Amino acid sequence: MTNAPVIIVIEDDPPIRRFLRTGLSTQGFTVFEADTGKQGIIEAEVRKPDLVILDLGLPDMEGVEVIKAIRTWSAIPIIILSARSSEQHKIDALDAGADDYLTKPFGFGELLARIRVALRHAIRPMEHIQADIFATANLKVDLHNRVVTLDDEEVHLTPIQYRLLVVLVKQAGRVLTHQHILKEVWGPSYQENAHYLRIYMSQLRQKLEADPTQPKFLLTESGVGYRLKI
Ligand code: CA
Repeated sequence: MTNAPVIIVIEDDPPIRRFLRTGLSTQGFTVFEADTGKQGIIEAEVRKPDLVILDLGLPDMEGVEVIKAIRTWSAIPIIILSARSSEQHKIDALDAGADDYLTKPFGFGELLARIRVALRHAIRPMEHIQADIFATANLKVDLHNRVVTLDDEEVHLTPIQYRLLVVLVKQAGRVLTHQHILKEVWGPSYQENAHYLRIYMSQLRQKLEADPTQPKFLLTESGVGYRLKI
C-alpha cells in the first residue's frame, strides 16, 4: 500500500511496542518506532506521520513535554497510552493537545477504533457538522438557529446548558477535560468549579438522554472529563 497512513509509536516498553507494530502493520499502517521522547520528537518531525501513539511514562522526559514539542509545529492526532493510576497525567496531556487516551492494559480493537476516529477528524475536523447542523443518532443541534431537537422534537435548553452542549459538539469524539470545558463555558476563573459542570451535565443528560443514568452520547471519562460520542 503506497498511501498507508504512517503511525509513530513512542513507547519504551519493548513488548508493547512489538504488540503495536505487529497489530498496526497487519491493519495496513506504516509504523515507525521510538523508545525515548527525544527520539520520538525527531521521528515525528522526519516521518511526517498521520498519527502519533505516545506512552506517557518515558525514560528521558515527560510525555506531556513530547506533546508540547510536537504541537509547536503540528496538529496531527496524538493518542496517549497511560499506565499510571494518576488521572492528572492524562489531564495534563489532553490539555497540552493530545486527542485521546487509552489506559493500559487496553484492547487492540479499542485502540484501532480510537485511531480511526482520530484520523477521520484530522482529515475533516468538522465532518459531523454540516451547514451548521450537528447530528448524531436522534440528536440534532442547529448551531445557526440555536435549536436542539431530539427525535425531531425541540428541546428547550438554558443558555448555559446550550453553551455546554455546543462546546461538546464542536469537538465531538474528543475527550475534553473538566478544566477545558469549564473555561470554555464559564470562563477562565471558573476552572476549579467542577461541581458546576457535574450539575449542568446531569441536566443535559436529563433532557437529551433516554436513560440519563446510562448515557449513550454524553459520556463520562472517569476522573478526566467528558466526551460527546459520535
Ligand atoms: Ca513506559
